[in-house]
Amino acid sequence: MDDNCDVCIVGAGLAGLNALFVASRYLTRDQKVILVDRRPRVGGMWVDTYPYVRLHQPHPMFTAGNIAWTLNRDRSYLADKGEVLDHFTHCLAEITTRITLDERYGWTLESDEETADGVHVTCRDASGDVRVIRTGRLIKAYGFRVMPNDPLELSSTRVHSVSPDHCDVRDGEMSRSDAPVWVIGGGKTAMDTAHAVITRYPGREVNLLAGSGTMFTSRDHFFPDGAQRWWGGTSLSSWAAEVCRRFDGTNEEEMARWFLGYHSISLTPRTRHLMLGVLSEAERKTIAGGLNDVVMDHLVDVVDRAGSTDLVLRSGATTSVQAGSWIVNCTGYLTKGDHPYEPYMSAGGATVSVQTRSATLHFSSYSAYFLTHLMFLGKLRDVPLYELDLQALWRESKQALPFAMFALAQYNLGLIADAVPGKVFAECGLDFNRWYPWHRRMAGTVRFMATHRRERAHLRRSLDTVGERFGVRCGPLQLAQA
Ligand SMILES: Cc1cc2nc3c(=O)[nH]c(=O)nc-3n(C[C@H](O)[C@H](O)[C@H](O)COP(=O)(O)OP(=O)(O)OC[C@H]3O[C@@H](n4cnc5c(N)ncnc54)[C@H](O)[C@@H]3O)c2cc1C
Repeated sequence: MDDNCDVCIVGAGLAGLNALFVASRYLTRDQKVILVDRRPRVGGMWVDTYPYVRLHQPHPMFTAGNIAWTLNRDRSYLADKGEVLDHFTHCLAEITTRITLDERYGWTLESDEETADGVHVTCRDASGDVRVIRTGRLIKAYGFRVMPNDPLELSSTRVHSVSPDHCDVRDGEMSRSDAPVWVIGGGKTAMDTAHAVITRYPGREVNLLAGSGTMFTSRDHFFPDGAQRWWGGTSLSSWAAEVCRRFDGTNEEEMARWFLGYHSISLTPRTRHLMLGVLSEAERKTIAGGLNDVVMDHLVDVVDRAGSTDLVLRSGATTSVQAGSWIVNCTGYLTKGDHPYEPYMSAGGATVSVQTRSATLHFSSYSAYFLTHLMFLGKLRDVPLYELDLQALWRESKQALPFAMFALAQYNLGLIADAVPGKVFAECGLDFNRWYPWHRRMAGTVRFMATHRRERAHLRRSLDTVGERFGVRCGPLQLAQA
């Protein structure tokens, strides 16, 4: 029952496919890759998140390596779930023209052990049998470990508690009722859900219970369309450079105020959190125009009382809701679960792990792409990347998290740029700068190459400060701890 391969990749989401793309640049046709995922197909979280999810950035930069989309739509088009999943299938087909790939869906990695000649990976297959894979290299591309959300557990029997992952809010029982809808949450899922409900049922009562509120980056500004692409807006890399220049590891409150006045979009009167979601002014207008009530508080429960049904809120306040209301759980996915620490590289260097306890870049797709390159180039040990425990930082300071993520990315990308051939960056189609025409991209690259060494000490200080202030792991990998 044992399998042998040269590379085993666990996780067939965007991170896993970027690792696979990179591996295919180094392997020959006679070398074998086994791709394992517990889900039933390629696509990662896109397989089972809510049906009306769309990409929030223009589709071309959501890809594996530099594989082009075959969608044939305007480049600003925001691909829907089906189109994203089709693109995953297309990426896999493109990559398998170069390598021998064995796909194992319904398999779950249970443990892995580094040996003298590679790694033994123990999995459980779809029928529950234990299977062992012996591989030269293992890449665990878990990303944020997003899993579908369940409905909120509520005391009330008079409301419908649903999760968008199991109940399409545009259809079914919800479409046969005209009871009010309460969207619980203030992030991307909440915006997608409010937008879907408001456009599907014009005139229906829709309310938002928005927690502390969320700032979104403005799509109109960061991805301007038409002629604006040539001279308007701000590229995300220029913005990231500015964020890193201003952030010193202590001033997240000031950073949030700065960002609020700088091309951010929000549905709520107050907000402290930037969670890297993207929204357009048109979407904001549609949602704001269709909302009855926006409440800045957190839901604790919904309870039935003698004469009313009440939302009980964290502040101690209560709000009466109509019996039969729909309570839609949009409280987010990215921060669920308590996962054990694991370093991004194993002691022997045969395993790379892309997850939130030892993050090296802002997005999992980027981490998988660049760490896999470093692994195949034999430079994983030589490049002293910083690791940051995002799970711990989320608990300690949601406000500092996005700024620390950008500092981490800027710092590590600077180290990587000095260690890998230029082709590695040239083939990275994930780069948001690709939205802009060639001359603006070049300007960004030249600026980065000219300044990244100079900025290194400041970035390191900011990251060290974050680590010390919040007591979270943030620094060069300590392999002794591995
Ligand atoms: C609602 C929502 C909307 C989003 N929208 C966008 C967007 O518009 N644009 C964008 O860039 N990003 C978006 N994101 C972020 C998104 O998570 C990433 O862009 C990306 O798709 C994540 O890819 P990933 O491979 O890191 O993780 P995943 O897609 O979660 O893939 C990881 C895979 O690893 C598998 N796995 C994990 N552990 C094991 C194990 N032990 N054994 C076997 N398999 C395992 C999982 O089954 C999963 O398929 C969104 C996130 C959410 C939650």
